[in-house]
Amino acid sequence: MYKGTSAHTEEVSSPLEKVYRFVDSHRDEFLQGLSKLLAQPSISTLGVGINETAKMLMDVMEESGLRTRKIETSGHPLIYGDAVVGPDKPTVLIYGHYDVQPVEPIDAWATPPFQPTIRDGRIYARGAGDNKGQLYAQLMGIRSLTEILGNVPANVKCIFEGEEENGSPHLEQVVMDNKSLLKADLAITADGPLHESGRPLIVFGVRGMVYVELTARGANRDLHSGNWGGPIANPVWRLVRLLNSMKDVKAGRVNVSGFYDRIKPITVEEMKALRAIPLDREGISRELGIRLSELPEGEDYYTKLMTEPTLNICGIYGGYTGAGTKTIIPSKATAKLDARLVPDQDPGEVFGRLEKHVAEHGEGIEIKKLGSMRPSRTPLDNPFSSVIADAMRSATKKEPIIYPSLGASLPDYIFTRILGIPSFITPYANHDESNHAPNENLKIENFIQGTKCCASILTHLAGDRR
Ligand SMILES: [Zn+2]
Repeated sequence: MYKGTSAHTEEVSSPLEKVYRFVDSHRDEFLQGLSKLLAQPSISTLGVGINETAKMLMDVMEESGLRTRKIETSGHPLIYGDAVVGPDKPTVLIYGHYDVQPVEPIDAWATPPFQPTIRDGRIYARGAGDNKGQLYAQLMGIRSLTEILGNVPANVKCIFEGEEENGSPHLEQVVMDNKSLLKADLAITADGPLHESGRPLIVFGVRGMVYVELTARGANRDLHSGNWGGPIANPVWRLVRLLNSMKDVKAGRVNVSGFYDRIKPITVEEMKALRAIPLDREGISRELGIRLSELPEGEDYYTKLMTEPTLNICGIYGGYTGAGTKTIIPSKATAKLDARLVPDQDPGEVFGRLEKHVAEHGEGIEIKKLGSMRPSRTPLDNPFSSVIADAMRSATKKEPIIYPSLGASLPDYIFTRILGIPSFITPYANHDESNHAPNENLKIENFIQGTKCCASILTHLAGDRR
């Protein structure tokens, strides 16, 4: 194809191309900086190294051109940083977390978790993918823009949390208390893995969740099943009968009255996106060791995963479960269930429906809520969507895959509901990042690509304020 000289020159010398070249030429330096951050433990659940990491992170942010401040909580602090260029430019709120999971089992690591090691094009360390590597990529994107353009092209506000791996117990409150500080036009989160094809991914939402525990009680102690069997009822049967009443397994439908209330029908755009996600049914069947015929086909697979709620039994226990025989009528039976929710189901309301169902179909069985999170979804036809897709295309030279939602749950509602802004999750880690597991790693190529993506997103947003 003929390429005009002037067009060619223009392309090569565009500010964003310069930023990409800067990123490429500073690869080793960025990796060294990341290694330093990874070498500093920050295990939130154990409270290890949190303050040291927060301090180190603030220094990196300052060096990248952000003004920082620490937001204290009764748990671990959040680190805030911003670079404001003007009210005529959009404001992007970047979320990430600097805490990491514990490292056990330590023997399974090929190299120590807090001794970052590069091998086979990957950097291995706890936090490499989840989330320090992705967070650092965002910061280096900001730094590269600042170096080349003198400033960031759009207003940037970063909020980096120190207790994400601990369930984000203070994030909601901090956001509520700092609404004007965190005011933005959109939120971007870089966490999680890319699609296994390596194509970039833009995720528009998450499912919510409500987690309950059901307890059926019988006699005040386990009873001899011969001496007492017959006249005395068994709580395990009662629990099983209740569970059976909650779902029509064959039809795949939850039988709790009102459970499906408020569910927003999926849009034409969402259906189109669901159809376009590559699905490797054979691969999944092989990987999980389940029959191919058990897997939904075509868009049905992702429709079920991303846009429909579930009611799942996580565990059921009671009575004797050891080796051999023990003839008893158990005194108690328990089941733990999680329901994944989709917009606009409300976890509190769904819990109320479950409570009512249990009262009607499982007399005397107790139900307790153990946790919940709201679902969240940003409409695909949001004005920023195509800008972000263009930005990802520019940085990766690949066509992004659009997920209308994750199957899993994240506190995305904090952005969409509390701040009332669209939220986009743009993961940069390789799909085999082994997050939460031994030998966590981030491909260097992904780290560099993430850095470019961040720079590209900010640049594209600045040029296309809608
Ligand atoms: Zn994690």
